Parts: sequence; structure tokens; C-alpha cells
Amino acid sequence: MIKLTTENTAKAIERCKQLKPKVNFIAERTFSVKSANNDNAYTVCFDVQNGEKFGQCECKASERGLVCYHIVAGATANIYWQSLKRQTA
Ligand SMILES: [Zn+2]
Repeated sequence: MIKLTTENTAKAIERCKQLKPKVNFIAERTFSVKSANNDNAYTVCFDVQNGEKFGQCECKASERGLVCYHIVAGATANIYWQSLKRQTA
């Protein structure tokens, strides 16, 4: 998994804002993010260890250790979902 920092997510956040990929909820901390370029969908998952956020995606960029816009899109949905869960709990 890739550790998510403000530095390594900055570019992906910009890409995500431009492309606005569709995100589907799969399971807790796991989301399917549709590619903006083709019909592929990538599964992204998240973890928190010692207060640090980690994310992983199935795409080529993520395999090389880069934070892709799929991860950012999933992370945004994850934060939203976690906040909803807190409100209803
Ligand atoms: Zn990706």
C-alpha cells in the first residue's frame, strides 16, 4: 500500500477534480472507481495504521507506487461514507 501524504496526493487531487470519476461503494474502505478514459473500473482500498492513511489501486500508476486519481476519488468517498456512518451510529 502507498502512504498518502499531502505531497504525493496533490497532483492526483487536481486530476480527480478535472476528471470527476464515478465511485461505487463495494465494502468498508473498498471502492470501485471508474476510469475517465475507458470502461475499466479499478478497485481501490484504504487502511489506517498509527494515524497514517494508506491506499492502493489496481492501475499501473499505483503499481509503480504513485498516487493515482482513483485513490483520491475513493478516499473522498471513503471520508464521506465514514462521516455518514458516524452520523447514523
Ligand atoms: Zn489507480
